[in-house]
Amino acid sequence: MTHIVVLGSTNMDLVTYVAKAPQSGETVTGREFRTIPGGKGSNQAIAAARAGATVSMIGAVGNDAFGLRLRDTLEHSGVDTDFLRTVEGPSGTAHIVVDDGGANSIVVIPGANGTVDHLSPGDEGVIASADALLMQLEIPSAAVVAGAEAAHRHGVRTVLTPSPVQPLAPELLAMVDLLVPNEYEAVTLTGRTDPREAAAALLDLVPEVVVTLGATGSLYLARGVEPLVIPAPKVTAVDSTGAGDTFVGALAVALAEEKPVREALSWAAAAAAISVQRPGASVSMPYRPEIDAQFT
Ligand code: ADP
Repeated sequence: MTHIVVLGSTNMDLVTYVAKAPQSGETVTGREFRTIPGGKGSNQAIAAARAGATVSMIGAVGNDAFGLRLRDTLEHSGVDTDFLRTVEGPSGTAHIVVDDGGANSIVVIPGANGTVDHLSPGDEGVIASADALLMQLEIPSAAVVAGAEAAHRHGVRTVLTPSPVQPLAPELLAMVDLLVPNEYEAVTLTGRTDPREAAAALLDLVPEVVVTLGATGSLYLARGVEPLVIPAPKVTAVDSTGAGDTFVGALAVALAEEKPVREALSWAAAAAAISVQRPGASVSMPYRPEIDAQFT
């Protein structure tokens, strides 16, 4: 079985649904409140585990009720949480207000994620044993760089989702094997408006790039090979939250299994297409048999 390690965030999303979001100083009555386990790190770990890999999560939760639930959520999908620390203080939270038009505003409090600014004893060992290390940018960049360095030392493929988008340090980019931005991130990172041009610009920085293009699909570029355009299956989307995380988790598994790149991208697109047809982020992520059924 392939082994994927995810170094990243766990967050409890605190989601308030309201007809119209309050202005500064205003109080309104909302319709519904939900607590939804999330965080890009946790979401990618769940996606990869459901896609069929052995997955270890490196990160931190707080010693609060949210921390217990975040850990439980990972374990429920089969993710190994031995390297997920419990630290003094609150878990990461995202405070989300969604209005009837579907527009949202979000405040993220890093909480325990903010303590993940270094690798802890044991982390390098588990990274060394992996087929791939998945990272995002919701934890301090010092840990992302340390994780990438550890992976690099041991010849482990590094996959970076540059979200939330921010300038990428050259020392980090030097250790990224595969960069997977969505269209907005690719455009923001490069200043190019055309996704293909943005992908080409990113290819100057890293050896392999996949730009995800929502319902359109994805674009794969690697040095010295023809670009691939992978269409997304035509489906009726009800909630695309976590589509990118589902895609990356499944893609990492498929590549670790040495599926040919085109097949790996299509398989990941099949996984993401299933997830967008169901509400929620990690709860909507498919298990391997569903992905195989959609793919063939
Ligand atoms: P993110 O969720 O990070 O913003 P995207 O919106 O680009 O990323 O979606 C990631 C992938 O999920 C896409 O490349 C595509 O394969 C799949 N996907 C997203 N939205 C849809 C959709 N409406 N229909 C089918 N597949 C989708």
